[in-house]
Amino acid sequence: MQVAEKISEIRSLLSNHWANSVSIGFVPTMGALHEGHLSLLKNAGKENEIVVCSIFVNPIQFNRNEDYRSYPRDIRKDLKLLEGVKCDIVFHPTEEEMYPEPLEKQYDFGDLDKVMEGKFRPGHFNGVAVVVNRLFDIVKPTRAYFGLKDFQQLVIIHKLVRDYKIPVEIVPCTTIREEDGLAMSSRNKLLGKNERKHAPLLYKTLKMAKVQSGYMPIAQLKKTIEDTFRRDKVMKLEYFEIVDMLTLKPINLWSESNQVVACIAAWAGNVRLIDNHVIYS
Ligand code: AMP
Repeated sequence: MQVAEKISEIRSLLSNHWANSVSIGFVPTMGALHEGHLSLLKNAGKENEIVVCSIFVNPIQFNRNEDYRSYPRDIRKDLKLLEGVKCDIVFHPTEEEMYPEPLEKQYDFGDLDKVMEGKFRPGHFNGVAVVVNRLFDIVKPTRAYFGLKDFQQLVIIHKLVRDYKIPVEIVPCTTIREEDGLAMSSRNKLLGKNERKHAPLLYKTLKMAKVQSGYMPIAQLKKTIEDTFRRDKVMKLEYFEIVDMLTLKPINLWSESNQVVACIAAWAGNVRLIDNHVIYS
């Protein structure tokens, strides 16, 4: 496994592969790796000749400075974990390397970033698109692997690739969970003991929504969920939405769409968690 910190280094490591049309699987991450990230790498390893993983905590996708500062970082442990899977090249650039000058590109995602994460984290998806576009330009992967855990991000990246005709196949990967249902996330490392105990409420809520789908009116379901969170002493609900999987538009009647996903964001103390669950597709 080779580690490159400079764009020039990774380009020279990849140039032969590009010239010989070797398939390159790419997994962009912000580090603090867990089984969720490793599952993306395993998928990439099965479907490509070369696997590249990037580790870069992207400052411009954080809308709260405190969140950026406290984001867990442990490059040594990450490299050790990457030794355990097929990973040929790790790209671990500095901020100056990625952004030598301020980037001002503004993307237009239509209504896709007006709801849920986009609504509560202004500028977040623009920051994601800037870094993903830049990384695609540096790595020129054949396929790129993204987790369904960040469902809205995945829909937006699909749009980015379509709109800018970026020649890469986007591969969605299943959400990996802890035994009690909590979706794995780097931010879980920041949870205190009590918060960690309460955090599975997100997935419990999503499963309940699936059981009630088609029966309980959506407005009533939302109210029930809001009440459940209000009763919980630790968790604070930010949003719960039932949305169309392609447009991300919230629906008010089950009959409005036949491809539906439930999405949730909630705070466990100072830690913001998100999750989602396909209701039907
Ligand atoms: P991050 O390091 O949080 O930016 O995540 C890097 C990639 O890993 C993204 O495509 C995420 O959607 C994906 N990912 C994060 N958590 C999980 C998980 N629990 N299961 C599957 N993929 C995940």
